[in-house]
Amino acid sequence: MSSHSVITILGATGSIGDNTLALVRQNPDLFRIKALVGGSNVEKLADLALEFTPDVVGIADATKQARLAERLLGSEIKIVAGDAECKDLAAIKVDIVIAGIVGLAGLPSMMKAVEAGQTIGLANKESLVSAGHVISQVAAKNGARIIPLDSEHSAIFQCWHGWQERLDGNDVHEGMSSIQKICLTASGGPFLTRALNEFASITPQDAVAHPNWEMGRKISVDSATMMNKGLEVIEAHFLFDLPAEQIEAVIHPQSIIHGMIHFRDGSIIAQLSSADMQVPISYALKMPGRLNWDPEPLDIVALGKLEFLPIEPDRFPCFALAQNALIQAGTAPAILNGANEVAVAAFLAGHISFSSIATIVADSLATNIDGDINTLDAVIAVDNEARRVATVLVEKIKGQ
Ligand code: NAD
Ligand code: MG
Repeated sequence: MSSHSVITILGATGSIGDNTLALVRQNPDLFRIKALVGGSNVEKLADLALEFTPDVVGIADATKQARLAERLLGSEIKIVAGDAECKDLAAIKVDIVIAGIVGLAGLPSMMKAVEAGQTIGLANKESLVSAGHVISQVAAKNGARIIPLDSEHSAIFQCWHGWQERLDGNDVHEGMSSIQKICLTASGGPFLTRALNEFASITPQDAVAHPNWEMGRKISVDSATMMNKGLEVIEAHFLFDLPAEQIEAVIHPQSIIHGMIHFRDGSIIAQLSSADMQVPISYALKMPGRLNWDPEPLDIVALGKLEFLPIEPDRFPCFALAQNALIQAGTAPAILNGANEVAVAAFLAGHISFSSIATIVADSLATNIDGDINTLDAVIAVDNEARRVATVLVEKIKGQ
């Protein structure tokens, strides 16, 4: 029997995919790839398939199937194409499914993995934000385990072994009651010190230029508005089963401490590392052990100091919108996420200003789209309606 840990990557051609595959590349004796799924970047997907020789490769954009087949001609790699076919790959039993698709587009395959009782390394926070209730219920029923890849959540996860016990279905009630609060850190993004009266001139290029992390475009914009930290607060609520008042976020421009737990006895336990997604991903791949790889050493003396600042509400209105959506609960997180995806795409396309992202999300939330959030279809219906409302708002701005 192979001692390899077998991995499927959803979103293999993106930034999370790159970071996961970099670890696999360094550790061929430990990991083997079962399936790789990409959206539409067929050339990159083909390169990865030829390098990592998975059993199967999936491309969501079915129009690229022929090109993928041409590139993989002569190999034994099976090809599937189209959203539904790709989604099904998440159910093939493996040691870990990396959920690295961006946006709610990742929800159907995430659900497939949850229904199949898989262990999931979750980067695709949008799915948990919008469908956290359904995912939690279905995961509990099917014995699926969700391990955070997001650096802040991985930090919280690494700070207390009780979360791991909880994943195995143990009652960790006593341990949970010793937690006063958790704290997620945020770098503050590229506009932490930009004058507020210059926000009107922010371009997509400015917004995706993150000072500490290299990531996909959507999450980079979310980091610039700090919607990302808001989404992460909601993500933390579902991952750790803590209420909004026990989840805090602070700005920490060095991105060295990623998260901490404040215990009721006055102790705080924090996790530190360089701003490198391979650190949390390596933990998810090897936990509860540690992968012996070759991370960039962190020189704390050279670093000298760590700073912490509050999140200014005027500078980062998206953060409070997300916090309030969590408190409001019900459909609000799904509306927040759907509207944000539309607004970010419109900003990246040059249709609206940076500041309009928050306005569109706020105005979409104010329409109070109601509905049920207890089934996948119901969540998708709320998401669709939020996108429709947000699209109308974008069109209105474009027409001005
Ligand atoms: P990215 O844009 O670099 O990559 C996205 C991936 O999703 C690509 O492989 C793309 O092909 C695929 N994809 C997009 N639409 C798809 C569809 N409809 N069907 C199938 N595949 C599709 O994004 P990213 O930065 O890697 O982020 C991915 C997720 O991880 C996001 O939810 C993000 O918030 C989260 N995350 C990313 C980082 C990071 O460092 N990049 C850190 C924490 C969390
Ligand atoms: Mg994060």
